[in-house]
Parts: sequence; structure tokens; C-alpha cells
Amino acid sequence: MRVCNFSAGPGCLPLPVLEKIRNEMVEHEDHGMSVMEMSHRTQMFYDIFYPAQDLLKKIMNIPDNYKILFLTGGATTQNSMIPMNLMKNKKADYVNTGVWSEKSIKEAKRFGDIKVVASSEDRMYNYIPTLDASTFRPDADYFHITTNNTIYGTRYTQLPNTGNVPLVADMSSNIMSETGPLMDVQNFGLIYAGAQKNIGPSGVTVVIVREDLIGNALPFTPDMMDYSVHVKANYIYNTPPTFAIYVVKLCLEWLQEQGGIAGIEKVNNYKAGILYDFLDNSKLFIPSAEKESRSLMNITCTLSTKDLEAKFIKEAGENGFVNLKGYKTVGGLRISMYNAQPAENVEKLVEFMKKFELQNK
Ligand SMILES: *Cc1c(COP(=O)(O)O)cnc(C)c1O
Repeated sequence: MRVCNFSAGPGCLPLPVLEKIRNEMVEHEDHGMSVMEMSHRTQMFYDIFYPAQDLLKKIMNIPDNYKILFLTGGATTQNSMIPMNLMKNKKADYVNTGVWSEKSIKEAKRFGDIKVVASSEDRMYNYIPTLDASTFRPDADYFHITTNNTIYGTRYTQLPNTGNVPLVADMSSNIMSETGPLMDVQNFGLIYAGAQKNIGPSGVTVVIVREDLIGNALPFTPDMMDYSVHVKANYIYNTPPTFAIYVVKLCLEWLQEQGGIAGIEKVNNYKAGILYDFLDNSKLFIPSAEKESRSLMNITCTLSTKDLEAKFIKEAGENGFVNLKGYKTVGGLRISMYNAQPAENVEKLVEFMKKFELQNK
């Protein structure tokens, strides 16, 4: 029996996608082989790869002057790839909103002069700091943010105004989750996201990069780390993660059936709405993130004691609600509800939390 899986990543996938994969595991369409067995240099694979790119372009309304890459190495590899490709003047500004930002900053420091313009470290990253544009460096090569902070349950609700400095965003945990300027590609120089949270399975990383930022890699940049090498090879420079890309394509088709980003945004608002509403009215569960910075994808909270948290996690598990434990350095609970998380699962969880509260007053 499938459980209600609130994993922060890899996250649950749409059931119809899993069923389709199962049905064509051995033979894809009439090709006589599984997608996993296809050469990446054949038309049958191109018929998966390029339509997947086109679909992403359509769903996110990506302008023509952006390139869409399907790379390997996770979002983590982008932490070094971005500076190698963008840091012409060896200067970049970063905002520190948690572990993922810290990792990005640490890696970027190998390549140049990094200024951390703001941080929310003082309060365990439970908010997005106010950004003062006068502290941004106008000659920076780019300005980096993490739009959704998976571990703490915070998200930007307003983009910084960086003027002519390209905005670079790690959108791993909230890409394609809402409409509006926060996710409008033309507001960014580069967007990257590991697929395993909101796009598909692990193994592929999506990079959306504005054309003018490609082709200026630092001289020592290895070929695999140079965006222009991938673009010049029609996006298939070496063997891409073929099966993962195929599943991404199926997930994008599923998303389109849900009404695209506008459609899924309604579901996301509903899911987060009922859970926050419960937390705000609960005397037992205490929401962790500041109201103004709340994530729609990862919702964090605590209970009054560690024992009670352990009891909740145990009983939830016995009732089919899994992966509710908070990140190791943060503790508490974390409920992840990416695009593929059915609203029904969240409704059931809220009911279970209500019942738990009544029994543990
Ligand atoms: C999960 C996550 C990462 C790490 O991604 P990998 O694909 O494992 O390298 C980076 N940034 C954010 C915001 C994440 O949520």
C-alpha cells in the first residue's frame, strides 16, 4: 500500500506517472526497448529529450533568449559551475538563508570575492532577511539567492532589485510552484533546480540560463562544467541521465493536465493554507518560520518537547504518514508538499494532527 509520503527530497511523484512508467518499463511505445536501453544519439531519444525541453519552456513561459539544460551533479554542482561560468570579474553577492545558501557561498569563495549581503543565521534561518539594495555591489557578476529554504520552511515573497546585476536563483525546492514575479524567468539571469523535489526524479538538474551569460567561462573551466559546451552540442554533450529526463517529461505532461503552474498554484495554496491554518490555531504544534517568510512547499513546526515530537512521528508512521522528521540540525517536524503531493494526503494529515492534539492535551 502506498503511504502518505512527506519527504523533503526526493519527493513523491504523481501516481499516474509511476503507473505509466511501470506499464512501459520493458517496451516504450513500439520501439522494442525500454527508455533506459535507448542510445542517446538516436531519434527515439531525441523525441523524448527535445519535447521535454519544449514543455518546460512552455510551462514556465521561458523567453527565447534563455537556454534550458538538463545536467547531472545535482543542484550542488551548480555551486561551482555558476561561478566558473559567470564570474568574469571575480565578484559576486550572496544572501545566506540557510544550509543550501551556505554551501553555495563556500563553493563560490574558491573562485572570487564573495560578499554576503544579508543573513538570517541569527535566528536559525526562520525568516528571509530584509535586503537593502545600497549594500549590493553594482559591479558584481551576479547576485545569488535561494528562493525556498527547504530545511527551515522559508521562502522569498519579494525579489531583490539588483539592477543590471543578474539574479541567480537556487529554485530546487519551489520551481514551478507559483505564478507571478517570483518565478518569472525574465527576472533572472540563471535559475537552477535539482529535479527531485518539484520536477521529477533525482539524477537530473535543470538549469535555465540567459544567453548573454554563456560563453565567458573562466579559462580553467573543464568542458563538462562549461554551459557553452553543452549548448554547442545541442544540449547533449555526453550521455545525459536519459531515464530521469524521460520521467521529467512525464511529470511536466502531468503538470500541464493540472492546469500548468496556475492550476497547481491553487492546489499548493490550498494545501499550505489548511496546514498553516491548523498550526496557527493549535496549542500543541508551533509553526517555526516567520509568517511573512512562509514556504508553500516545506512547512516546519515543533512540539513542546522532544518526547512529544518522537511520539507524534511514531504514531504518524503507524498511520501511514512518513518522512515527517525535521532536518537533523533543526529538529521538530517538516512537512513537505511539493507539486505532486496530493491535497488529499495533506487533508488526512491535518485530521490526524487534530486528533493527536486532542489526545495529548
Ligand atoms: C535539495 C536542495 C539542494 C541540493 O540538491 P542536490 O540535487 O542534492 O545537489 C540544494 N538547494 C536546495 C534549495 C535544495 O532544496
